[in-house]
Parts: sequence; C-alpha cells; structure tokens
Amino acid sequence: MPRPLVATISSAALQHNLALARSRAPNARVWAVVKANAYGHGLERAMRAFSDADGLALIETEAAQQLRALGWTKPILLLEGFFSASDLPMLAAHDIATAVHCQEQIDMIAASGLEGRLDVHLKMNSGMNRLGFLPDAFRAAYSQLRGLPAVRSITLMTHFANADDPRNAACPVALQVERFNQASEGLDAPRSLSNSAAVLLHPGLAHDWIRPGIMLYGGTPGGKPAADFGLRPAMTLRSEIIGIQTIHAGDAVGYGSRFVADRTMRVGVVACGYADGYPRHAPAGTPVLVDGRRTVLAGRVSMDMITVDLSPVPEARIGSAVTLWGEGMPIDEVAEAAGTIGYELMCALAPRVRVVAD
Ligand SMILES: *Cc1c(COP(=O)(O)O)cnc(C)c1O
Repeated sequence: MPRPLVATISSAALQHNLALARSRAPNARVWAVVKANAYGHGLERAMRAFSDADGLALIETEAAQQLRALGWTKPILLLEGFFSASDLPMLAAHDIATAVHCQEQIDMIAASGLEGRLDVHLKMNSGMNRLGFLPDAFRAAYSQLRGLPAVRSITLMTHFANADDPRNAACPVALQVERFNQASEGLDAPRSLSNSAAVLLHPGLAHDWIRPGIMLYGGTPGGKPAADFGLRPAMTLRSEIIGIQTIHAGDAVGYGSRFVADRTMRVGVVACGYADGYPRHAPAGTPVLVDGRRTVLAGRVSMDMITVDLSPVPEARIGSAVTLWGEGMPIDEVAEAAGTIGYELMCALAPRVRVVAD
C-alpha cells in the first residue's frame, strides 16, 4: 500500500474555471497562466485541460519548450521575459512570445539578427515597481521595438499590485490604469492588463488579452471566497488517520509540546506533513476535515504528520478520510489560518505526494 496522502486534480474543475474566466471577459483572448508547474497542478495535465485557452503563459523557459514538445501549438508567453541573449534563438525556433521589461532586453533583441520572429509583450511599470518601463520611458521603448527587424508584433502589458483590494491607497488599480492609458494612448497595439483579481473584480479592464492564474485553479485572488465567484477547487489534498491517541488534561502533543490538553480527548495522527507541502507554521486551530466533519489542528506540524482534534468526530478511527484542502475545505481558509495565501500552498505541493486525475 502506498502512503494514503493523495492530491486529486480535477480536469473538469480546471475547464469549468477557464470557462468562467472567459465568460467574465467575453471580448478578450485568454492567456491561461501555467507557471510553477501550473500552480502545482502539473504542467501537462493543465495544458490538456486548458486546450480551449488562446495561449499559455508562464515563467520558465524549459517548461515553455516542454509545452511545444507536448504538442501545444497555440501561443506561449514568457511573463517575466527572457534571461539572456542566448535564449532568443530558442524563442524564435519554438515560437515563444516574451515580455520585454528593460532596455537591456531591447538591446539584446536588436543584436539578435533574428528577422521578424519575435512576438513581444512590452511591459510598463505603472506602479508595481517590479518589472517594466516607467510610463515616461514607455513610448520610446515602443518606438525602438517597432523599428527592430526581429520584432513581429507588440502587445502592451502591465500588472496590478492591488486588483484584489479596492481599499489600497498606495497604488490603486485606477491609478495604474490611468498611467497605463496615458502612456500608451494612440499606440496601435493590443493590451493586456488583467490577472485573476482584475478579471473578477474589474471586468471593464478585460481587453485584449487577460492573464488569469489562481482563479483557474479554484483559489480566490482575494476579496471573497472562491466559491462566491463560482470557482471550483481543482486540487484536493486527502489523506487518512493513521494513528489515534487518547490523552488527558495536561498531556502534550508533538514537537515542542505546544498543544496541551485541557480535558480527556482523542487526537488523530494524519499522514501529511511539511515535507508534503503542508505549511509548518499552520497553528493549532487550522481547519481540517475528518470523515467530512470540520475539526482543527492540535500541536505542531511535523515533517510527515499532523495531529488533529477528534472531539467533533467521535466515530473517527484508523483509516478515516481526511481532507487537508480542496473539495469541502477551501484552500484559502487553510492558507489564511497559516498566515499565507492559497497560491503558496498549491505551488508548494511536494514531489513525494502522489497525484491522481479524477
Ligand atoms: C502570475 C501572473 C499572473 C496571474 O496572476 P493570478 O493572480 O494568479 O491571476 C498574471 N500576470 C503576470 C505577469 C503574472 O506573473
């Protein structure tokens, strides 16, 4: 018997969430974002589930080539751009589009000797202050690219810092949109602005290419629970109770003896720990489902096990089903209890976890 910990990936949920993104942006083309091994869901599986997307966008050059080897013929985009001049012949050979966010990249393209082979997403830094040309420099960058024989097409792109948070005053969406529109006014090129949060909360910005990621996997980009948007969890992480201890007032559980019982109670031991991607910093009180019933962590997360309070589940026994996250237990609730976001939990699913399709 293999260890009972299994991540089940639902292609139907991936397809449903993609269709939902499309329905929210009926006039846009969709880059389905599959970076980080499709947010932990498996690149090939995601590629097949997203066959209806207009393109796949990601970060890793090797994974981009792998998509071509797997037979993906529609567009592919490197969201963070290329990393060295030596990447450019590969981009041309595999027809992989790239973000361009700095002058050094333009210089590399100019020197590449490629003729009409590169599709470029020119990135503006409209307030996020990570990658991109400042609004003042954007037009000049655009003109330069327009003049380069290597460049076949240009799309204008920016990325929001706070599309999930209408109350953020430091860099609100409206300010980024204003800067972007002003600096790109009159340029004859398609635009790409929206991540998941913008698709769901700012539908008016959904042109000409949207870039949903987290929503495709059924996580919320923030603001509201994913289910309220009609999203379905694509990854369900399940295990089983493999041990039970009955402890009494004053007895402690696990490393550091952080949980101390205040009464006689049963504690269930679940085959899942931080070496599986479960967050070690999840505190006592983090929610978990046992036999379909909600209960909570009791004691520290260890490498291969967590311990849970079985008080609400008196019928629980060895072999009882446990859901760490996914169907019935929103990943965002677990993430919030652990002081992180659903994105991180999905992406951190460890290689030793068995993954099955449903
Ligand atoms: C990751 C990423 C996205 C997708 O973001 P989500 O919040 O997961 O929807 C979109 N655009 C860029 C540039 C990204 O890096």
